[in-house]
Order: sequence, then structure tokens, then C-alpha cells
Amino acid sequence: MPGCGLLCQYDTSKLVRIQSVRLGSLKWSLNAAILLFICVMLLWNRSYQEVELLVSSVTTKVKGVARVRLPGAGDVVWDQVDYSGPSQEKNSFFVVTNVIVTQNQKQGKCPEVPLKGRLCRSDADCEAGGWDQQSHGIQTGSCLKADVLKKTCEVSAWCPVETRTKPPRPALLAAAENFTVLIKNNIRFPAFHFIRRNILPEMNDGYLRSCRRDNDTLCPIFRLGDVVREAGEKFSEMAVEGGVIGILIRWDCNLDRLMRRCLPSYSFRRLDEKESNRTLYPGLNFRFAKYSSVDGAEQRTLYKAFGIRFDVLVFGQAGRFSFVQLVLYVGSTLSYYALTTVMIDWLIGTSCYSAEVGQIYSEKKVESVADKQKCILCVSYVDERNIRLVKRSQKKSLQLVKPTSVQPHKEDIGHLRAAIFLLQLGPAPDSSHKPDPAHDSSHKPDLAHNPDPSHKPDPAHDPDPSHKPDPAPDSSHKPDPAPERRRPAWCQCGSCAASSLPQEELCCRRSAGACVASSPPFERLVLRRPLLEAVLLYRDPLAPPPAGRGRAAALRHCAYGQYVSWRFGVPPPGAHPAIPSCCVRRVRDEYPSPDGRYGGFRPAGTASVQAAANGEL
Ligand code: ZN
Ligand code: ZN
Repeated sequence: MPGCGLLCQYDTSKLVRIQSVRLGSLKWSLNAAILLFICVMLLWNRSYQEVELLVSSVTTKVKGVARVRLPGAGDVVWDQVDYSGPSQEKNSFFVVTNVIVTQNQKQGKCPEVPLKGRLCRSDADCEAGGWDQQSHGIQTGSCLKADVLKKTCEVSAWCPVETRTKPPRPALLAAAENFTVLIKNNIRFPAFHFIRRNILPEMNDGYLRSCRRDNDTLCPIFRLGDVVREAGEKFSEMAVEGGVIGILIRWDCNLDRLMRRCLPSYSFRRLDEKESNRTLYPGLNFRFAKYSSVDGAEQRTLYKAFGIRFDVLVFGQAGRFSFVQLVLYVGSTLSYYALTTVMIDWLIGTSCYSAEVGQIYSEKKVESVADKQKCILCVSYVDERNIRLVKRSQKKSLQLVKPTSVQPHKEDIGHLRAAIFLLQLGPAPDSSHKPDPAHDSSHKPDLAHNPDPSHKPDPAHDPDPSHKPDPAPDSSHKPDPAPERRRPAWCQCGSCAASSLPQEELCCRRSAGACVASSPPFERLVLRRPLLEAVLLYRDPLAPPPAGRGRAAALRHCAYGQYVSWRFGVPPPGAHPAIPSCCVRRVRDEYPSPDGRYGGFRPAGTASVQAAANGEL
């Protein structure tokens, strides 16, 4: 609608429907496969649910007692208070498995351990007040005998200093593998108002006393040996230097009414890296002391404790049906159906079909619009059924330019009928034969809608002849006395004239043979004067009979139009029919220009538009 702009229009795509059983069934099979995939993924991933992450809290309670033979203290029974270490971190618990005990330390002066303190020979080697990161105390400046062989600097420290550095092997508390731990885990999904515990409502006291992980994976009580074993470690090995074990609790909850399920699953793995631990600072240890007072003097027992820390990690999510999520999921999967189109289009374009069928599909699918600058010509050879589309070249002769595409010849039905009728009449007796009204009427309709250059008088064909003078105006309109001698290399029929313009260098044939201009139909369909006069009269019934130069030009262009209708039928859209040199020459011979000047070849489309704009039609 004019003046309405973008607001008043709606654009939609044009579709091409291909009638093919193979392609149709392929399309539906692919679509069904995609639909199946989408449904499976929908149910498998529960993509129709909205999801919330959990909020969790963990408490633990370790139980078990073990007899420990401490060096210097004899057998001691340790219970949970002794082996749990001084403090508990959040979501984790610690179990001492090995220990180095240094008993009855008091504040005083004693020689440093030979391994850590520097060996000395005299007091001069020891600096009073000095210390380093490895020393147990502050040097006093004297050099003392540490044992029979070595002398070390004296330090003021808790004496005697801890001498042992390597943990005992086997571990003193290897029996800790029989300890058990009860893990209490409360989770909550705030948005869903859902609370749950890993001690399920149906678990009673009797159940908790007797349950074992071996036969019930939901049992919240774990034997430490089992935990370490399921993490892929050996308890007795790990107990020597200690380490970190992760207890992972995963909740995957479906809160939909029909499929309600919300249970924990437990798994275990070692969190510190065993291999890199071997060389430097292995395992896990810390020191703590128990203080006492003997005769008013403070003394302590120092423990270097090795042990396993168990970290409880809880993660998981809950999902509940949500219509919005379902719609979003369905929307996000719609684009998968484009795969069908992509794949079938690819099949059509490749090896699945013959080149001919593929060509037809792509012609229907793709409408190519040529750049205004690029001139597409169409060429028809008498020994080829198809019409070739070629790009106009300024250097190569038209006969040799490679076609951009080949299209089937589309018959102009009106012209075909008229032509057959004319051919049935037989050869015209002479040129004064009056046109038959019957064949006239049958011929005319096609000319009325024939968009070929024959509609135009000479100026329209070449609005400005001075721009492009015919390269051989004088010689071409006269019969050549020796055509064979001057036959150009690109000519296959032997009747074409040489030309300096590459776009005029076109023969009527692809391979050597007789010229179409010498065939009887050419005579009858293109050249016959009564026919051309009838066509001109049909087109302009009241025109005064032109004479002289105009008359010949009108007949000549009418003949070109006849040739185009005959050889090209309906020319491919956007392409300009090119008339072979031999045919042009034959028409010029028949209807010569008195002054020997011709327009030369111009693409019909551009010429007609310009001519119409200039009011020359
Ligand atoms: Zn030729
Ligand atoms: Zn020819």
C-alpha cells in the first residue's frame, strides 16, 4: 500500500513443496526420531521440573573404645573423648589413629635433638638467644652432650624435647577401624517447604542398633574401616600417617506427587592426594598436650596425633513439576526440527539425486536475481536441447564462455502452435504471398506477450548507435563471396562473420554441422516477408506503411523476435537471448539497412528499459 510504509505490511516466506515419496517418508522418519529423542530427554532429565538446591546441616557421633599400648605409659583404654582430638570442625570429625607421646615435660634447659639442632663442638658454636623454625627452644649458648657421640646446643624449652619424628608402625590405634560413626543430616528445600533427614521416619532404635551398610545402603551408621575401604584405601596403611576422607551424601529428590522419592545415597573417597603425600609432609597430624601440676610445678604430656579426618559433604537438588519449565523446554527443542530441513536439503544438494533432479529442485527453491551490472545472456544451440546461461565476457568470445547453468527449453505454446501451422503450409510460393488470415490470427497472440527485442524499432535496440558502431557494418550486410575462407575459429557452421566484439562471437551450433540459417524453418519462420509484415500490422494496425530505412529496420527486428520465440520459447527470466552471428547476418542480408549501419548487439532487457524511459518506443 503506498504511503503506509512498513506498518501496513506483513512478510512471510514462500515454501517449495516437493512431491516425493522418498523425501516425504524421510522427513517424517527424521521428525519422529527427533520427537522420540526430545521425549526421552524430557523424562530422563525431568526437564519439566523446576529445581532447587538444598540447604543442609550435619552432626556426627563417633563411638568405640580401643586398648592402646603407649610407650612409657603402658596399656591405656582410649574412648571417644581421647581419640576425637581437641576440637571438631564444621561438617567433619577426626579420629586419632597413631600418636607420639612425650611425657612429663617441664620448663627447663636441655640439649636439642641431634637431628634438628646444629651439632656443636664448643660453646662458641652456639649463639645465645638464637632459634630457628626447626628448634624446640631458645639457645642458651652452651654446647652439651646429647648422646654418647654427638654434642648439641642447649635450649631452654619444655624438657625433655620430643625426640621421635617418624610415627610408629603399625599404628597404635589401628583398632579404630572398628569404630562407628552416626551421621545425622538434615536437609531443607526452602522454596518447596520440604524438610528431610537421613534418619528416615521408619527407622527405629532397634533398626539403628542392628543396621549395617553391607545389607542396607540407607543405614546412617558407618564402620570407619568400611568407609576407608569403600574409598579405595587400606585402613592400617592410612592409620600410620593419617589423611582426609570425604563422605559424600547426595540427595536427588523428585517431589512430584506420583513419583515422590527423596532418599540419600552415600559414597566415599579420599580427598588428600596420597601419591604426593609420600615425599613431603605426608598425612595429617597435629600436637596437643595434657597439663598437670606435680608439687606445684607445671608439667605436661605432649601428644603428636596422627589421624583421619572425615569430611561430610552434602549436595543435591529437588525438582517439582512446573508448567513454565515444560513450556521453556518444549520451546527450546523446536529448533531441533530444523535439522530435518538441513539434512534433506543437504541430501538434495549432494549425491542422493541425479544432477537433473537436483537442478530442478534448486531452480524452484532459489530465485536468483542478477546484479544490474552483470549481464546474463542465454544461448541456444541448434544441436542442443537445453538453454545455456552465460555471463557476458568482455574478453572471451561468447561461444567459448563456460555456462553458469543449463536450463531446459521452455516452449512458448502459442508460438509453437503458430509455427507448426506455418510449417504445415509448405514452402511459400513467393514473397508476394498474402498472409493467411487464419495463420495470422493463430500466430499473433504469442507476439502480443513476447518480451523479445523484436518489439522495438531500431533505436530501442540500440538507443545510441554511435556508442557502439557495428564492427563490420559494410561487409556483413552483403553476401560474402568466400565465407569458408574467412570463417572465424569459434564458428562451427561456417556461416558466421568475424566480429571484434566478444559478445557477438556466437555460432548457431555447439559442434560442427549445417547452419540453422540455411534450414527451411528459418526461411519460413524468421525471414518470410509476408509473415513479418502481418506481425507488424497486427502490432500496429493503423500505422502507415513505412518505407525506406525504417521499413527494413522494422522487418529486421521483427525477424529477430521471430528467431528468439522459435529458438528460446520462453527465455529464462532475467536473461537476454543472444542471436548467433550467422542468423544475424542472414537477416541483415535479407533486410539490409540502406546506409549499411546496424545497431549491433545489445542485451534486450536493458535496452528496452532505457528506450521506454526515453519515450522511444
Ligand atoms: Zn557459425
Ligand atoms: Zn550458423
